[in-house]
Amino acid sequence: MGMILSVKDLSFSYGARKALDRVSFEMNPGEILCVMGPNGSGKSTLIDCVLGIHKPDSGTLLLDGKEVQAYKRQEIARHAAYVPQNHSVTFPYTVREAVMMGRTAYLPAFGAPGAKDEQLAEEAMDRVGISQLADRPYGSISGGELRLVLLARALCQQTPLILMDEPTAHLDYRNELKFLELVSSLSKEDGISILIATHAPDQAFFFESTGCNVSALFLQKGVVASKGRPGEIITESCLEGIYGIRAKILESDGEKTILLQKSL
Ligand code: ADP
Ligand code: MG
Repeated sequence: MGMILSVKDLSFSYGARKALDRVSFEMNPGEILCVMGPNGSGKSTLIDCVLGIHKPDSGTLLLDGKEVQAYKRQEIARHAAYVPQNHSVTFPYTVREAVMMGRTAYLPAFGAPGAKDEQLAEEAMDRVGISQLADRPYGSISGGELRLVLLARALCQQTPLILMDEPTAHLDYRNELKFLELVSSLSKEDGISILIATHAPDQAFFFESTGCNVSALFLQKGVVASKGRPGEIITESCLEGIYGIRAKILESDGEKTILLQKSL
């Protein structure tokens, strides 16, 4: 099987401000890529380029072997799903209907979802563990539940790649762990590729310790500062260089974790 995502020398600017500078990386089927870096380093911009929302200034971006800009919008949605960072709830739908939105990628214009779409939505909610929320108004659920609903919507879209923008930012410990366990099993058991933007390198260690095929990539001011296996590239000196902090990397029960000590 070919690469699900192949990015080469990708550059993008907002006007005169360069946000991505010759970014290159590849993702295999079933691989998790943790894109890390401080606020403003270009993580969300990179996701927007993969989704075809931003047109790169230069470089190539192949999604399932084809240049992203050559896809129609609805076609992209059959190859890549998106779990956004912020999602304002502006429509009066139930959770089930919101999850079924993932099927829009497959419906003709103005087409209504059918029995198969409904079944896929039920399966996605079951997989994520939110079936009990199905009839709740989408606007009435908590931030943590919303994140799981957005993940179910992405699953319902049945894409080989899911892009997630800081998906655990507002989750409590248990919901964060549940979310990370789901990501781990989607990669290992379903062979879905997952690009996850995060500023928590601990998550890359979690995926590594749960036996995922996981890579890490650090962005710094739009440039790839390093990439490789989490255990190899996430070091105390790298955390100092990229985040300007002193931190210790500890190991317990075969899993590494980061102890934050001091901002420099
Ligand atoms: P991250 O997701 O890593 O926090 P972003 O991709 O959001 O970083 O931002 C990368 C850089 O691009 C930052 O300097 C940010 O200020 C700038 N930027 C992001 N969005 C816009 C925009 N819509 N217009 C102008 N500059 C932007
Ligand atoms: Mg961002």
